[in-house]
Amino acid sequence: MTESPKPGQLTMVAPRRAKPQRHLADLTMAERRAAVVELGEKAFRADQLSRHYFGKLTASADQMTDLPAASRAVLAQLMPDLLTPVREITCDDGTTRKTLWKLFDGSLVESVLMRYPDRATLCVSSQAGCGMNCPFCATGQAGLTRNMSTAEIVGQVVAGARALASGEVPGGPGRINNIVFMGMGEPMANYKAVIGAVHRMVDPSPEGLGISARGVTVSTVGLVPAIEKLSNEGLPVTLAVSLHAPDDELRDTLVPINTRWKVAEVLDAAWAYAAKTKRRVSIEYALIKDINDQEWRADLLGRLLKNKLVHVNLIPLNPTPGSKWTASRPEDERAFVRRLEYHGVAVTVRDTRGREIDGACGQLAAANPA
Ligand code: SAH
Repeated sequence: MTESPKPGQLTMVAPRRAKPQRHLADLTMAERRAAVVELGEKAFRADQLSRHYFGKLTASADQMTDLPAASRAVLAQLMPDLLTPVREITCDDGTTRKTLWKLFDGSLVESVLMRYPDRATLCVSSQAGCGMNCPFCATGQAGLTRNMSTAEIVGQVVAGARALASGEVPGGPGRINNIVFMGMGEPMANYKAVIGAVHRMVDPSPEGLGISARGVTVSTVGLVPAIEKLSNEGLPVTLAVSLHAPDDELRDTLVPINTRWKVAEVLDAAWAYAAKTKRRVSIEYALIKDINDQEWRADLLGRLLKNKLVHVNLIPLNPTPGSKWTASRPEDERAFVRRLEYHGVAVTVRDTRGREIDGACGQLAAANPA
């Protein structure tokens, strides 16, 4: 595995590694047609293939029995198995389920499916590991192994959609309503693959899965140039900024990228994103006992956010191995909420779904089963 980073050390560029095989989910519709023709098949087979993969969620080419057997064998080359499930752990009577995936080169990533009475959310990984080194996050402590490809990211969604469609998840057959890039990795540090993946998620069937862009949330530590780029993609996804502190002094230590782009710069980029997309920005704030949960910090945060198109998600800190930090006292959490509300800032406290299976925010470390 990758070496653990030193405190504060950032890894901005992913190590160069062998790339996973090309998959139809890496490609736009036009590219799929070209690829199919290159393989000696008629271009319309790309549409059939896409309808199977994104529409019917067909898992392998041999199941596409409406295609001639010879074509199936050829087209299988565009549907390699990129993700192998290694382990599945569930809680909440099976409605929360964390899957550990092995990628072609042995890299491990995790995704978490959370089903609620009225919707289902999938939390996906965008990198094997992470280079952002936030000291309270288990993923950050392990360092960055490599970027994931577009199809590896999308594969997690297709697998989740398949599990819901088949009725495997308690609650009857269902579909994915929301996707959050809050698994392993910093999505804005793997920009191109992530944008490709968002396209496959939101583009209408058969080009993509046809999930509403409003249901997709991209969460970032605050890579300002990437946020600016994202606002020009014409993809009105929800932007979440992992702020965790309103002052540079503390944020420099909690979110090391702050040494590169300061609180004011990140928030300016967020407001520009909101103005451009008309989408409310989420501010993520993990409440850590006696570290960032003081009332004066809530007050400072409230003053930074008041009158903005914003929603604050407070996340009671989830425990991670080797960390001395814990979640805030209930009374401090309540005072923090009240202070933000005093400034008229919309705020909710996130539930800690998946905590007991190490599937909650910041707990994904993708270790091999013992
Ligand atoms: N790299 C991206 C996305 C992954 S983390 C980002 O940082 O935004 C998803 C969210 O979980 C982030 O807001 C992250 O800061 C938060 N998080 C990480 N570790 C946590 C922990 N131990 N407890 C609670 N939230 C945590």
